Amino acid sequence: MKDFSVRPEIEDFAPYVPGMTIEQIQEKYGLNSVIKLASNENPLGASPIVQKVISRHAARAFRYPENHSPRLTAAIAKSVGVPEECILVGNGSDEIIDMLFRMKAVPGKANVVCYENSFAMYRMCAKLCGLEYREVPREAYYGLPLEAMAKAADADTAMVIVTSPDNPTGLTASVDDLALLSGALPADCLLVVDEAYIDFAWPPESYTPVQAFESFKNVVALRTFSKAYGLAGLRLGYGILPPMLAARMKNARIPFTVNLLAEEAGVAALEDEVFYNETLALVMRGREYFTKELPKLGCRVWPTQSNFVMFESPQDTAEVFEELLKRGIIIRPLKSFGLERCMRVNVGTDEENRTFIKVLGEVLNG
Ligand SMILES: *Cc1c(COP(=O)(O)O)cnc(C)c1O
Repeated sequence: MKDFSVRPEIEDFAPYVPGMTIEQIQEKYGLNSVIKLASNENPLGASPIVQKVISRHAARAFRYPENHSPRLTAAIAKSVGVPEECILVGNGSDEIIDMLFRMKAVPGKANVVCYENSFAMYRMCAKLCGLEYREVPREAYYGLPLEAMAKAADADTAMVIVTSPDNPTGLTASVDDLALLSGALPADCLLVVDEAYIDFAWPPESYTPVQAFESFKNVVALRTFSKAYGLAGLRLGYGILPPMLAARMKNARIPFTVNLLAEEAGVAALEDEVFYNETLALVMRGREYFTKELPKLGCRVWPTQSNFVMFESPQDTAEVFEELLKRGIIIRPLKSFGLERCMRVNVGTDEENRTFIKVLGEVLNG
């Protein structure tokens, strides 16, 4: 068959590599049950109330949804405490990231500034848009290099992107540090704060700039229903943006990216405070448990404000990962993030967490 050409700079595109699914692992290792602590999903699953709402609306699936999901947008604005004009919902926060790149891209001229070992989406989007991707080294083991990011930004910088709480380290920028960075950026540069894990940061007002959104002129925050709300498979996220930027993105994007069931689910999820609070309690308990237990096994643990913990084991990472897999536990080795010696484990149910620590102990001492 004829081989069609694509733009030369994306011929050798390295794709996003998701972890193995539970079914793939079961088949490969002949296992009946698998504990998956690899993708930062909600250990409680999807809220039972939200599941009912999705079923109830299934018969409406033949209808187009309302463009830009106005009911959900209003519900999010109310829950976050910002004007509706600031909210743009998307097919996962990944869609908003993608849109931001395309809205700000000036191929061959503009650049974006991130730090090393960031979420793979940013590099992919930058490359696809023909932007220079500037990676600032992580200066401190236990901090995010915000000062270096401010220094790396110049008049051609379209965006500076901080993940806070960070994936995969779990490290979190304080709202004061974000304010400093925001104030230090060139005039037309956005500070994008990817807040996929902000629900788990405590207390939130110490970490998110959104609660003082009016005073940050250049900040965009990205949030998702994939983690704390347990709706990763529905693909639902949103941006909190300066109103003019949100309006321009609405004009420019393809219609109906948020489907009708996702909109209903999102509205219901915001109302289900019981499920949300149970999730937070479980996550905070679990991360404390990991932070206490992993060092007892000789592992170095990073402080976390997220629903996962990054750690370095005393033994070869690839071997530990493989031995865990054989025993039916999947976590995330961080080689693809450029952190070859580290692994990330997300909080599961209390029982899954105990099993993980027990089995890891067997692997490390066996
Ligand atoms: C999980 C995650 C997201 C969320 O992506 P969705 O598209 O909303 O599922 C965004 N950023 C980071 C860093 C993440 O880890």
